[in-house]
Amino acid sequence: MKKLLKLSLFATLATTAISAQAEEKFITIGTGGQTGVYYVVGQSICQLVNRDTAKTQVKCNAPSTGGSVANLNSIAAKQMDMGIAQSDWQFHAYNGSSSFEGKKNDKLRAIFSIHPEPFTVMARTDAKIASFDDLKGKRVNVGDPGSGTRATMNVILNAKGWTDKEFKVASELKPSEMASVMCDNNLDAITYNVGHPNGALKEAAASCDAHLVPVTGEAIDKLVAENSYYAKATIPGGLYKGTDNPVESFGVYATLVTSTDVEADKVYAVVKAVFDNFDRFKRLHPAFENLKAEDMVKNALSAPLHEGAERYYKEKGWIK
Ligand code: GLU
Repeated sequence: MKKLLKLSLFATLATTAISAQAEEKFITIGTGGQTGVYYVVGQSICQLVNRDTAKTQVKCNAPSTGGSVANLNSIAAKQMDMGIAQSDWQFHAYNGSSSFEGKKNDKLRAIFSIHPEPFTVMARTDAKIASFDDLKGKRVNVGDPGSGTRATMNVILNAKGWTDKEFKVASELKPSEMASVMCDNNLDAITYNVGHPNGALKEAAASCDAHLVPVTGEAIDKLVAENSYYAKATIPGGLYKGTDNPVESFGVYATLVTSTDVEADKVYAVVKAVFDNFDRFKRLHPAFENLKAEDMVKNALSAPLHEGAERYYKEKGWIK
């Protein structure tokens, strides 16, 4: 009898141990197209998180998605735990403004901001496009539906009193497709709200005669003056074949966001993995080179910080 009892006690303990071990927590981070920087951000974060899975039980994956707007919608629908989103669309999703009118997400929470993303236009040299206004009557890729690029392009068009009709063609190709379509001479220009250097733009500049086009003028000045999430931005020269000099534009920041529905321990595991290994993280893409932790936890965030992120930043003394 005694032996039996011991045996069953052992069995119970063993089952408990197994189920504790099996209690893995999964995190999904929405990124962007595979030729963008968001995809690299997501893969880099998950690589660092997954190095600690044995300790934290947290497993991370970062699939390719349509981009900012798609990620914000997936977080609101609880289909994804986290996502990368432009700071302008983080603002609108949290406040229920612009294209998020009627879709205000009170549960949206910020984790940190990442690299700057200037609104970028690249045009074929033979299309003779020297400014944004020269895009009138041209064949232009205005951005993938669900992308922050497409959404911000709409803001620019609105500010100028334009619509898609101003273009001869307004295509909505994915970033991974647009370079080859332009170089096959089926488009005059492509647009991408993205960190630099970027693979899709490099591919275009290397495959056909093309250059970056400045995004400046009165309408842009007004957008920057009236909205705190926009700022003037300069794309350095020498990053892309055909563009040796710096090019003026305006832009936003990439940010990592989540929801109050996501438990604090998961968010804590993500920020700890990134900032405990920050030098390693910064080496994973040239767009991360100049990142500073203290700025990332404060700048370009309009939703409140998630409590899991706040816990780590307080421990570090980065916030009070
Ligand atoms: N900013 C773009 C968007 O929100 C994505 C850029 C990237 O994938 O790096 O859709």
